[in-house]
Parts: sequence; C-alpha cells; structure tokens
Amino acid sequence: MMVFWRRVTFTVVTILLLLWLGLVVWVVRQNFPAKAAALATPTASPSSGTPGWAPLFNIPGIEFLVYSVEPRDTYSSIAKKFKLSEETVRSLNQANDGSTTPKNASLLIPSQDGIFYIVGPGQGLSDIARAYNIPLKSILEANHLSGDADVKLGQALDLPGAVYLSQSDVHWVALKALEDEKGFLKPTSGRFADGFGPRINPISGKKEFHPGLDLAPGWRARVVAAQSGEVVFAGIRAGYGRLIILDHGNGLTTRYGHLDQILVKLHQTVLKGDLIGRVGMTGMATGPHLHFEVRLNNEPQNPLLYLTQ
Ligand SMILES: [Zn+2]
Repeated sequence: MMVFWRRVTFTVVTILLLLWLGLVVWVVRQNFPAKAAALATPTASPSSGTPGWAPLFNIPGIEFLVYSVEPRDTYSSIAKKFKLSEETVRSLNQANDGSTTPKNASLLIPSQDGIFYIVGPGQGLSDIARAYNIPLKSILEANHLSGDADVKLGQALDLPGAVYLSQSDVHWVALKALEDEKGFLKPTSGRFADGFGPRINPISGKKEFHPGLDLAPGWRARVVAAQSGEVVFAGIRAGYGRLIILDHGNGLTTRYGHLDQILVKLHQTVLKGDLIGRVGMTGMATGPHLHFEVRLNNEPQNPLLYLTQ
C-alpha cells in the first residue's frame, strides 16, 4: 500500500514539474522575440526608412531611434524633420564642434526635446552637473539614478534645465575619475586666502590655531556641499557668523562659515556639489570669504587632505 501511494505522489510531482517547466519555456518564448524585436528596430530602421522608437537608453519617458543620415542632411534639417530643436539633436550626438553636417552615418534621435549628455570615461555625475551648472539632484531625478554606481560609460543622460553648450563653452572644471567620489569637492572657487594651522588672528592680533581653510572667491559666490550628507546645523554661531554644518557619516563633518546666505534647512539631505549657501562676511571676518572646516570626531583636520581637486 505504501509503495502504491509513493508511486502516486511521485507521478503527481513529476507531472507538476513538467507543467511548470512548460510554463517557463512558454513565458521565455513569449518575452524574448518581443525584446529582440524592440532592440532590432533602431538598427533595422535606416534601411527600411521607417524608424521606430526603442528603449536604447533608460531615461524615463523618453525613447530613442537611430536615424540614417541622408546626403543633404544638416543638423538643422534633421531637427526640423523630427520637430525637435537643433540643440537637442546636437547635444545627444555630442556634435558640439560647430559643423553643420553630421560626420556620422547615423544619429540618435530622442522622442522629445532636451539637453542630453553621453557619459565619457572617468566622468562622475557631480562633474557633469558642475560642467552644465545644474543641481546634481535634478540629474538623479530625471534619470531615475541614485548615484554614480548606476551610471555606465556611453550612457545617455537627460540634463533638465541645462543650457546647450558648445564644446568650447563646456567648463570641464576638472573631470574626476569615479573612484574619486569618496573625496571632498572644493566647496567654492577662489584662492586659498588662509591655510590650516597656527596663525596670528587677523582681528585680535593674537596667536591662534586656524581650524580650517579660508577661500576668497568673492562676495556671494556659490558654496556647494563638499560631500553628500545631512544638514545638522544651519544658523548663526559666535565667530562663524552664518554657519552650515554637514554630517557625512563615519564621524566626518564639514563646516561652512561667514556665509552671506544659507540655502538649506536643518535635517535636509544634500548631495555632493549641491548649492548650499553664498559667500559673505558674517561673524569674525575682515572680508568676504568662506571658512571651510573638515572635522573627524569633532577634531579639526587639514581640509587639503580631503579635497580631491
Ligand atoms: Zn577661517
């Protein structure tokens, strides 16, 4: 009797397994031809002359096709053909050299206007944000990214709010390798007016220890977060004037003092490169400058050891 039931159980299990396998094969068959067709559309389109949209890049809401350039095409005529701005077509195809006719046999065409950028070797999102002077956050949001780890070489990015830049205009401030992302950005431009270490206080004339770097880019210059983190102080503190303190985790904090304007709120999360304030001369300052500190477990460190540029 036991043997009989075991056989029945075995048979039932075998039948279920076969059914399940059949289902898997069916699902795979159903999906693969569709995917293959979608991917094949853009490459097949130049010969057929009826291009189709395809998810060439993973930008939410935007599709792309490959357009085969015809003899008398110019960037402007191609843009008109697709009811797009010439800047859209030029930006996506990295055609910022000023030439009127495309050199390549085919061009990428997006389904809507925008300024696009193709990620080059060693380029991080914060570099691209700075080059185009747009917030890193807006690139992350528009492209559904959480950081550099999601970005691949040759990937197209939508740069919302960016202005088209010709190659000579692009401010490639210092394109850093992705591995440098752990380092700190110089929080504002300008010369180092005063370094880290012992000095004579410019106001009291007494010997003191200067716990940070002073940068003097000029009145109301942009101050950006040296690294992503949380705002743990945003207000007025004796000596510092208007001060922002960011907590970056692992015991690391950065301080931005003498600000004219604070553009972040307490407990707000900021990303590396985000605009957080404007240079001023609040607190104990003889002229407009940014007082920048890096602290490890609240002990001031030499910021130069943390800056990557
Ligand atoms: Zn200072």
